[in-house]
Amino acid sequence: MKIGMKLTKKLFSIWKSENNLNISSRIRVFFTVLLFINIILPAYPQTKKIYIPDIPGYKTLKCDFHMHTIYSDGTVWPNFRVVEAIRDGLDVIAVTDHLEFQAFPEIINKDYNKPYEIAKEEAAKKNNLIVIRGIEISPTIPPYHNNAIFLKDVNKLPVDYMKQTQKKFVLKDNVKKEELMAPFLEAQKQGAFVFYNHPAYFTWLNIKERDLFTSFHQDLYKKGILKGVEVVNGSYNIDAHRMAEKYNLTMFGNSDVHGDLLGYKDSHRPMTLVFVKEKTEESIKEALLARKTAVYVNDYIIARRPEAEALFKACISTTMAKMEKSVGNREPFMKITLENKSDIKFNLRVSADYSIKPYPLGQLVLMPYEKKDVVVGGLWNNPAKVELTVDAYNILISPDKNLQTVFSLNAF
Ligand SMILES: [Zn+2]
Ligand SMILES: [Zn+2]
Repeated sequence: MKIGMKLTKKLFSIWKSENNLNISSRIRVFFTVLLFINIILPAYPQTKKIYIPDIPGYKTLKCDFHMHTIYSDGTVWPNFRVVEAIRDGLDVIAVTDHLEFQAFPEIINKDYNKPYEIAKEEAAKKNNLIVIRGIEISPTIPPYHNNAIFLKDVNKLPVDYMKQTQKKFVLKDNVKKEELMAPFLEAQKQGAFVFYNHPAYFTWLNIKERDLFTSFHQDLYKKGILKGVEVVNGSYNIDAHRMAEKYNLTMFGNSDVHGDLLGYKDSHRPMTLVFVKEKTEESIKEALLARKTAVYVNDYIIARRPEAEALFKACISTTMAKMEKSVGNREPFMKITLENKSDIKFNLRVSADYSIKPYPLGQLVLMPYEKKDVVVGGLWNNPAKVELTVDAYNILISPDKNLQTVFSLNAF
């Protein structure tokens, strides 16, 4: 950004100096400045890093496992994906260009490992952002788009189902199933983790089967190749969430960014939270295989119950004040303070076997780092414990179910 400012100032100073520029050159400089500002400003959309706490026994890593660069149909150089990720406070990214498409074959050599290598080199210069080698295998017929990550050599993945990959994406006329299966078998040989991207009835996909989890996906699944699905690709996908439950797949939430991330200016890009033993590539893979993920999109968390509950309880701390009595009313009550220690906004409802505030219905919104009191009244039986049931309406543990958990608090 500093370099950007300096360059902008320099361009303006050239424009202002009357001696050395004629009108047409000045107009040219003016438009260069405009273009430059346009390029620089959208490059910084997310305004702050997101803090999400670790859960007991595991570190919480913020990851985006799906993004494109100029090596396929993206519009930025791979190292820029690193700059963005560091700015957004991510721990892990996977660069996943399309295996079958090159937009600029005349200036960029065909080497599917290169975007990863460029990004990796950039990350090594900056901090400890982990870059994972990946690719998007993307025929427009089943099994449609799938990411393979943790590959060893992307160039070994065959694309014999394509007629043209340069400038245009053209499938062969009579594609054989073996040709479509070939890159997946190679990915499996290399120990890759494969997940189904953005399952949907897009017009650009030649969908003939009613079920998005096609017979080809069944095959990949039975072979032990397909292990995950994008429940969020930019936005939430209920069909994908149902698919994840039905086939017990690891849930992902990724940006699939091709250009800039300006759309996330007021919030954050979608991300996959991975709960790892250590911050290493190996540990990330292990966690993905164990389905230890959560998806964070807008103000929502989508996860299986154990991860959802652990994460929620790591974000919220409770402190209970001593049993008190109201002034002018001898009703014994307790004040429980809920504190949000994360950047996630929570939409809650609290309930207990006693009278409870806030009204109505014990509903409350806990903004990031906000503290709010819950008053549990009518404790005439002097309970040793008070159980506070909390519904977190922004945490989905199933497509139709929010997280409900209990905070058991000792009374004293
Ligand atoms: Zn795709
Ligand atoms: Zn993609």
